[in-house]
Amino acid sequence: MTNAYRPGMNFWKHISDESRAAGSERLARIVKENLDELVGKFYDSFLAHEEGKAFLNHSVVTNRLHKSLRNWLIELVSVDPMGDMTEFDARQVKVGEVHARLKIPNHLVMEGMTLLKSEIAIKIAELDIDRRSIAEAIILLDELIDYAMRHMSAAFLSDTSRRIQTDEAFRLFSLGQDVHLERETQRAALMEWSQQVLFNLFSNDCGEVTKLANSPFGLWVRHRGAILFQGAPQLDAIQNLMHTIDDEVLSKVSDDRPAGVAALQVRIEEIKYHLNDLFNAASNVENGRDPLTRTLNRRFLPSVLGREVGLAKRENQPLSVLMIDIDHFKTINDVHGHQAGDSVLSHVAEILLNTVRPSDFVFRYGGEEFLIVLVEATEEQAFVIGERIRARVEEKAATVIDRPAIPVTISVGVAAFEGHPDYQYLINAADNALYVAKNGGRNRVAAA
Ligand code: GH3
Ligand code: MG
Ligand code: MG
Repeated sequence: MTNAYRPGMNFWKHISDESRAAGSERLARIVKENLDELVGKFYDSFLAHEEGKAFLNHSVVTNRLHKSLRNWLIELVSVDPMGDMTEFDARQVKVGEVHARLKIPNHLVMEGMTLLKSEIAIKIAELDIDRRSIAEAIILLDELIDYAMRHMSAAFLSDTSRRIQTDEAFRLFSLGQDVHLERETQRAALMEWSQQVLFNLFSNDCGEVTKLANSPFGLWVRHRGAILFQGAPQLDAIQNLMHTIDDEVLSKVSDDRPAGVAALQVRIEEIKYHLNDLFNAASNVENGRDPLTRTLNRRFLPSVLGREVGLAKRENQPLSVLMIDIDHFKTINDVHGHQAGDSVLSHVAEILLNTVRPSDFVFRYGGEEFLIVLVEATEEQAFVIGERIRARVEEKAATVIDRPAIPVTISVGVAAFEGHPDYQYLINAADNALYVAKNGGRNRVAAA
């Protein structure tokens, strides 16, 4: 008997061996005798939830999950918490990961666990034994279920956050694609589908019409569109129109063709309108990039720096940032005009983008401020890159239409990740270094 430390299993450790064995035996018997009832109640309560229903339909439940929960319950009451629980722990982690993959909310699982606890406890209370034995069996049960649930929740959380990071990474990747080409392709795909439907109708070809949701356009809306335009109201409107067409308009079109065709055309026009709107809204911000400088929009900074700080910590890799500010930019605006100022901004940004590696991230941090995330770069390396950028900006005056070239300089603050989990700390350090560079006379690089 190994007496490993198991957090939360206090009572298991402290009661007498006899009481523990008796309680454990009672638990196992009650669970095994009432397995089907317990499993049934668990899933009934799950499916009574709108949220729960969304994840499981009845046939999946009966086919697979009933069996899984049965096995889980049997293992729960068969395991010896005073012995080796390595395999048991690993199984709970697996379950948590499956829940994360299915995106089953953890709170629904917890609710199910509470239900199981009550159902089993009621049956224990009905046993013809003394009060202390009843209490002991119930405490043992609670500790067991909570122990399993803790492993499950921890795995659920870490898996979920990993998934969110991957989603975000993919979004960022997708943002680099050509938005205009994407718009034209999808417009054409929508028109092609509607022409095919009309053609079928007028040639009296009553063959199966592909639903819009299953057409290439529908696939794009449901997958790529959903990633690119996450949460955009226009996308919801398009999805709703698509369902109306598939579920209502298409089925009526053969009853009354002129009316059906008219209804279809109205809906298609509406989708085109929303599609245009969707892409217009997106190209205003160049879908995550700042339109003037083509650098990344600042709203992505938390997800990029959050991930990179986590990675640097986990893999013990260096990470640095550069805070860059154009010198006397107000004067440039005042002397040459705001439009020339804009040209200077995009000129500097181009040098930044061309000097760093493709794996680095260049953000527009403020009006004439940029923040560069240099992945896997030490402070010394970051300093060298900062100095290279500074020199290039100084060497190459900004060319502006109808004007002589405008000389520009920048000041750069360097800071390296030193283990602080909050990335704001890193930004502040770079900002302080920038302040030092400015105070030191500008057109220079300073380290934190
Ligand atoms: P310092 O060397 O201390 O940084 O001086 P500065 O003049 O660059 O600093 P300050 O922060 O006072 O001025 C920044 C100016 O940048 C003020 C603002 O009008 C201008 N600015 C901010 N965003 C834009 C933009 O998008 N286009 C143009 N043309 N100007 C901008
Ligand atoms: Mg500034
Ligand atoms: Mg400035």
